[in-house]
Amino acid sequence: MVVQKFGGTSVADPDAVRRLIGIARAARARDGCGPVLVVSAMSQVTDALLTSAAEAGASRSESALAHVEPLRERHLAMARALVSDADLGALTSHIEQQFEQLAAIVKALAVLREVSFRTLDVVAAMGELLSSRIIAAALVHAGLPGEWVDARRAIVTNDDHTRACPLMRETTATLRASVLPVVEAGRVPVLGGFVGATVEGHTTTLGRGGSDYSAAIVGAGIDAAEIQIWTDVDGMLTADPRVIPQSRLVPRLSFAEAAELSYFGAKVLHPSTIHPAVERDIPVRILNSRKPDGEGTLITAEPAPGDDQLTAMAAKRDLTVIDITSSRMLMAYGFLRRVFEVFERFRTAVDVVTTSEVSVSVTVDDRRHLEAIVDALSEFAEVSVEPAMALLCAVGDRLRNEPAIAARVLRVLEEVPLRMISQAASRRNITVILRQADLPHAMHRLHEEFFA
Ligand code: ASP
Ligand code: MG
Repeated sequence: MVVQKFGGTSVADPDAVRRLIGIARAARARDGCGPVLVVSAMSQVTDALLTSAAEAGASRSESALAHVEPLRERHLAMARALVSDADLGALTSHIEQQFEQLAAIVKALAVLREVSFRTLDVVAAMGELLSSRIIAAALVHAGLPGEWVDARRAIVTNDDHTRACPLMRETTATLRASVLPVVEAGRVPVLGGFVGATVEGHTTTLGRGGSDYSAAIVGAGIDAAEIQIWTDVDGMLTADPRVIPQSRLVPRLSFAEAAELSYFGAKVLHPSTIHPAVERDIPVRILNSRKPDGEGTLITAEPAPGDDQLTAMAAKRDLTVIDITSSRMLMAYGFLRRVFEVFERFRTAVDVVTTSEVSVSVTVDDRRHLEAIVDALSEFAEVSVEPAMALLCAVGDRLRNEPAIAARVLRVLEEVPLRMISQAASRRNITVILRQADLPHAMHRLHEEFFA
C-alpha cells in the first residue's frame, strides 16, 4: 500500500482534484487496496489564512475578513464542482460552518489585538482540514470509497505550535487506530497534511510546507510500501532549470544525497521532512501530478546504481563571505571558539566554513546582524566582508570513494575564481563559493561535463 501526498498546486482547482482521483484510482487498481491520501490546502490558502490572522492581530478586522471571504467562495465552488447534489448539502453546510467559526475567531483576535501561536495553528489548519474533507467527498462522488480521517486524531505532536514535532510512538498508535481500519474496510483514507494535535487535543501545525512531513509520518506509522509526493515538477532535476534549461530528471538518489541537495538550495524536499521515512527505510518518490505516467525521482536508502559520477547539483545565492584573520592567534587555541561564539550570540547560522592556520572564512545568508557580528569579531581579529557571493555544490555518493571525481569538478571550474572550497565529513558533496556573477557560467561548465 502506498501513501500519496498531493501538494497545494495538485489540489488547486477541480481539474487538479480530478487528476488526483485518476492517480489514486490507478494506485488502487495496481495494489488492490488504499491508497492513503495526504493532501495540502489548496494553493495560497495557508498564506491567506495567516495573513488574515496577522491583520486581525493588528486590529484590522475588515481587512482580515476580506482575506477570508474569497476562500469561502473558492471552497464552496470546489465542492459544487466535485460533489453530487445528494452529498453536497452536508458538505457545503460544513464549509459554511467552518468559515463562520473562522470569522468569529478573526473578529475575536481583532478585539484582543494579539495572536498566540496556538490560535494561529487553529486558523492555519483550516486549509488542510477543508481540502481533505472536500477531496474525500469528491472521491466518493467519483466512485472511490474515500473516507475523511481527522489528522488531529491521527498525528500526535508536542506543543511547539506553528512548528510542532510528531511524537512518533503515540502517533504510530493513533495512526494504526485511525487509518488502518479504514484501509482494512476497503476504503481510501484522506487526511489533511500539515496538521496534528497535542496529547491534550490542541490543534498544531508542523511548519510551512509541512504536508510532506505528514506524508512521511503517516507512511512510517502504517509501514507503507512507498511514499509518493505528487507535485508540479517532474522530480528532482540535475540542476535548476531556470539556469540550466538542459537539466534532466534524476531517476534515483539516496536519502543522504537528497539531504545534501535540499540543504544546499534544491527546492524539492527538505531532509527533516522525510526523516520518518528514512528511519524506516521506506522509499519516497517525487512525481508530477500533471504527468502521472512519468517515472519521477525515487529516493531510497541505497545509493543509486548506474555510472553517473555525480547525482545533481544545487546552488544558493545571496551569500556573504566573512573572512576573519588573526595575526596574533597563530597556533593559538580558542580562536575558533571565539569566532563561533559571536555567530551564536547573534543567532546567525553559518553555511560553509574553511580555515587555515591564521584565518577562517565563513558564509552566511542571514545579513540581519551582519554589522554587529563584524563589530564583535573586530575586537579580536581583522574582518572583511564580501557580499553577492554564491555557493555551488555538486553531490554524489561516489564522491566518497573516488577522489578523481572531486579533481574533475575542480578542473572543470579552473578559470572560475573560487573563494572557498570545501568537502566536509559526509564527503558526498564538493562545495565551492564563488562570485554570484560567475555562478551561471560555472553551473553550465559542470553540467556539460557531468550531465550532458
Ligand atoms: N499548506 C501548508 C503550507 O502552505 C502546508 C503544505 O502545503 O505543505 O505551508
Ligand atoms: Mg509543499
